[in-house]
Amino acid sequence: MKLRSTLLLASLCAALTAPLPAMSQQLAKDLFGAFRAPSKQDPMPIGSYAKGCAAGMLKMPENGPHWQSMRLSRNRNWGQPVMVEFLMDLSYSASQIGWGKGLYIGDISQPRGGPMITGHASHQIGLDADIWWLAPTRLDLTVGERESLSSIPMRSADQKSVTAAWGPAARNLLKVAASDSRVDRIFVAAAIKLEICKTATNADTAWLQKLRPVAGHDTHFHVRLKCPAGAKACETQTPTVAELSKGGNGCDETLTWWVTDYLNPPKTKPGKKDPDEEDPPKKKHPRQFTMADLPKQCQGVLEAN
Ligand SMILES: [Zn+2]
Repeated sequence: MKLRSTLLLASLCAALTAPLPAMSQQLAKDLFGAFRAPSKQDPMPIGSYAKGCAAGMLKMPENGPHWQSMRLSRNRNWGQPVMVEFLMDLSYSASQIGWGKGLYIGDISQPRGGPMITGHASHQIGLDADIWWLAPTRLDLTVGERESLSSIPMRSADQKSVTAAWGPAARNLLKVAASDSRVDRIFVAAAIKLEICKTATNADTAWLQKLRPVAGHDTHFHVRLKCPAGAKACETQTPTVAELSKGGNGCDETLTWWVTDYLNPPKTKPGKKDPDEEDPPKKKHPRQFTMADLPKQCQGVLEAN
């Protein structure tokens, strides 16, 4: 571990003194993963959620009246000011609606955002946060307990339904979060949205639209905030949730697909492949991004104090 961080530091120092073209070829995850502190710049999410970095981030305090940050060793409890504020507000709401004592908060972003050495494709600009599906019964967990304790699944192993942990408090937590105007969308396991859809009324459309089914996410939900007002370098995500759900609540065939064809792909006839046909180019994973792939301003975030 020591050796690895020494190597990272060495490559970072080399990168900072090397001429630009060399740095543009460095893997962004190594450069951003090496920082322990944010840049002393005005706050700014730069680029998109899965291809960017972040200036002037704030640390989500490790402990608060209604929350604890988990897995502190990862150093991913950094967010845009709007994210820190949002999480503090949601933690308070959680404690008021019977969701235990508040929130256990998982990964947000690295101190300067950017691609990560392990895990997440997104979480790069300080506007994504994972919240555990374990309702806190204690808010005095030690640093060690925050490493060893695990969250619990809210989705069954066959991926089709919610677990016994589900109930009105969980639904209310999602409702409060998704009703917040700072929130762009929330990623949840499809089974969770299907459960809420069972009793949805017209009054639920606006917030329910923001719940988006994704793979995984059985033990946490993932809140994504909108670009803050005036954040010129922040790329708004398209399609929007309204477009994705065609103005409805999203309780449609695109949702049931997750518990039908997604789990049991229909067999297609083996077609004869045209030998001249090229495979479509594979999309780069953020772990393969070099500095040249990221917005130019990310260079400045690396070089800032
Ligand atoms: Zn996440």
